Amino acid sequence: MADAPARFSALKESIRELADLAGPEHRERASTLADSLVDELEGLLGEMPSALKPARQRPKAPRDEVERCPVCTLSSYHYQRGTIRESEHGGFEAFYRCGSCAHEGWKEIQ
Ligand SMILES: [Zn+2]
Repeated sequence: MADAPARFSALKESIRELADLAGPEHRERASTLADSLVDELEGLLGEMPSALKPARQRPKAPRDEVERCPVCTLSSYHYQRGTIRESEHGGFEAFYRCGSCAHEGWKEIQ
């Protein structure tokens, strides 16, 4: 589907060509129909970009559910289930809470 825009362009060319094949008595009607078909195609193309992008899969859980706490440095910084969200940097982050010093915060995950 990566070449969809190019295929749409080729399709539009064909529609216009088809309209040009009409005899003089149908030329105007054929041209009007071709225009509305092209408009229709462009409308469809406008709705497609989101469908063309591969959906980013939200991870179910971070690779390491227990990390070293950035405050007390003990390995008791636990991922809090169901807290994964999209981060500002286009990745994902999860909420962690330290079972030892109660420090908590968001952490970028893989
Ligand atoms: Zn801690």
